[in-house]
Amino acid sequence: MPSEVHKVVIIGSGAAGLTAAIYAARANLNPVVIDGSLPGGQLTTTTDVENYPGFPQGIMGPELMENMRKQAERFGTQFVFDQVASVDFKGDPKKIKLNQQEIFSRTVIIATGAAPKLLGLESEKRLMGRGVSTCATCDGAFFKGADLVVVGGGDSAMEEGTFLTKFAKKIYVVHRRDQLRASKIMQERAFKNPKIEFIWNSTLGEILGSDKNEVTGVRLKHLQSGEEKDLPVQGVFVAIGHTPNSAPFVGQIDTDDQGYIITLKGTQTTAPGVYAAGDCVDHTYRQAITAAGMGCMAALDAERHLANLGLDD
Ligand code: NAP
Repeated sequence: MPSEVHKVVIIGSGAAGLTAAIYAARANLNPVVIDGSLPGGQLTTTTDVENYPGFPQGIMGPELMENMRKQAERFGTQFVFDQVASVDFKGDPKKIKLNQQEIFSRTVIIATGAAPKLLGLESEKRLMGRGVSTCATCDGAFFKGADLVVVGGGDSAMEEGTFLTKFAKKIYVVHRRDQLRASKIMQERAFKNPKIEFIWNSTLGEILGSDKNEVTGVRLKHLQSGEEKDLPVQGVFVAIGHTPNSAPFVGQIDTDDQGYIITLKGTQTTAPGVYAAGDCVDHTYRQAITAAGMGCMAALDAERHLANLGLDD
């Protein structure tokens, strides 16, 4: 037995991880949170959050996460600024190998989130949060009356494009093929929407920005003819999928063919005592509030598991 064994280790410090920490800490389980490479998670990369309940005037993403962190700290959560290199969930306690140290725990909550896939353009990086976005639900309301580009041909692109027509004047969906990957129903909804126009067999060669770093347009590249053409728009939504941050756990717990962690009952993964919550599990809802809700569930599931082992006090 290692000299120190924690009751709950939470991997990830976004909305799911920090909510799990608040619940586990209030249950006197002295949780340890491994911060990961982006402390606070994806919300720290957004500006105004207007749909998190309890903030009628909205709240900035980084401030919301800072508040959650303080709330977790208030009840005794310990934070470790490190990243997971590998894990061994076969035995009890579970072993978590970080870059700097190894730690052991009776239960583990994985809340490592997901990263939106990006096109890989320098201009996309530079203009991110300044007219380039990966989340229509988060940022759509800032584009009232605008002309926008949505990149992608899957359900996310159709959903984001359709949602954005509530605010925008015109949406151009730019897709790299001449057929959509999206489900029939989502395709039909987008085809029927008079504000949506499709640009086929094309990709973005560049996102164009002003001196003030605001999006002014895109350089479209036709993939068959190679022809390039500038299209003036005020915003670009990249909706080409997400990658769940589950790489260190593959082989230790089951994941689906896209790498999302499979949960069996509640937040229980295929390894007993290991739970998962938030965007590393969920590719459908992907909201701060749903991630927080799952984080709460994971802490309650871990607490019950510890109680069954007689380790809850
Ligand atoms: P997805 O199904 O993987 O689609 C990604 C789209 O982006 C594809 O059309 C793909 O083109 C395109 N793409 C990928 N990399 C690209 C690149 N580098 N440059 C240009 N285009 C690129 O991802 P998703 O739409 O996020 O959906 C993920 C999962 O969530 C799916 O199972 C989906 O059904 C589900 N989902 C469901 C809902 C809903 O039911 N309400 C909403 C959103 C998502 P190709 O087609 O050429 O590969």
